Amino acid sequence: MTQIALSNLGKKFGSFTALAQMNLTIGDGEFVALLGPSGCGKSTTMNMIAGMVDPTEGDIRFDDRSILDVPMSRRGVGFVFQNYAIFTHMSVRENLAYGLRAQGVSASERNRRVNAMADLLQLTPMLDRRAAGLSVNILQRLAIGRSAVVEPAIFLLDEPLSNVDAAFRSVMRSELKALQRQFSQTLVYVTHDQLEAMTMADRIAVMDHGKLLQVGTPLEIYNNPQDVFVARFIGSPGMNILEGTIASSDEGKLVDLASAGRSAPLALSDRAASQGLPEKVLFGFRPEQVNPDPNGIMALPVNFVERIGARTILHLGGDGIEAKAVLDNQIAMPSIGDILRFSIDPKMVRLFDPVSGIAIGGDI
Ligand code: ATP
Repeated sequence: MTQIALSNLGKKFGSFTALAQMNLTIGDGEFVALLGPSGCGKSTTMNMIAGMVDPTEGDIRFDDRSILDVPMSRRGVGFVFQNYAIFTHMSVRENLAYGLRAQGVSASERNRRVNAMADLLQLTPMLDRRAAGLSVNILQRLAIGRSAVVEPAIFLLDEPLSNVDAAFRSVMRSELKALQRQFSQTLVYVTHDQLEAMTMADRIAVMDHGKLLQVGTPLEIYNNPQDVFVARFIGSPGMNILEGTIASSDEGKLVDLASAGRSAPLALSDRAASQGLPEKVLFGFRPEQVNPDPNGIMALPVNFVERIGARTILHLGGDGIEAKAVLDNQIAMPSIGDILRFSIDPKMVRLFDPVSGIAIGGDI
């Protein structure tokens, strides 16, 4: 088990900054997801940890040792890419045993570990089949097993599930979590899929445009996004963000949301109250927090009704405003063209600065 510490880590390709001043410590045995859209610098960060790319600034330490001068082959890191690297002329068993053989592990111990890994990843029935004939799903599972079986102290996975089909991806999410629990490796997982990050990671590091925006547990990031980009990126659908103006009422400050109505009086934290509010704010609320309410002081027309099984997503909006509501199917569902009146629990409202995009007062 190894702790990874990235300090002021940066990478430039010519004059282009792929990663700027990243500070992140990943604890012994922790599962951290680097999450962000394409091009945000996730793989560059991962490749620097693995030793495939040299940083242009900063340091990477494994426990208390800088590893910048340690070649990739001696960093003790297992790496699985989006495109599996499997020896297709070998059997599943030979692929799984490959790294153990290279390490000089005895035949009996090799067999024991190969069989245990095959069992964990449901590869036992095909142990003696040649890899060449296997499906993409199975090959990716094999690639993960082949890297994991040597029990590297650090396991790096770069979008390992992006080429497998949706049903298999869901199975693999729980298998990967079980694998990591069993071996207690420090695991860094690159993904652009917030669901993968939310379901597997102990903590998520959200990145955009070469910058680390927020690090926290899945629930911390979901409940208290510190940045409007994070608020929109996390959740399916992401947080609704409406432009608003702070107004006063007898019961306290509230947000005027133009044609969408007005918010209930804000439940401001001491921090937000003492910090003071700008005149204009971004008003954030999760689609799951929309409470249909005939007496609600917020209202938006229904543009589209998207049924997704147990729940329905209402697409709301008009006059340049867009929002979504996720409702339980138990209620009478409005139709396209209806006006949905609703309320939002003031404790669940998040405010952001419209200029910087940063959350106002942390959690309000
Ligand atoms: P993706 O999921 O698309 O791989 P990512 O978040 O992993 O995205 P990176 O691969 O780290 O992003 O790339 C970050 C930025 O750095 C991108 O704009 C990419 O084009 C650029 N980049 C990466 N490698 C190089 C390189 N060798 N030379 C020049 N630019 C590069």
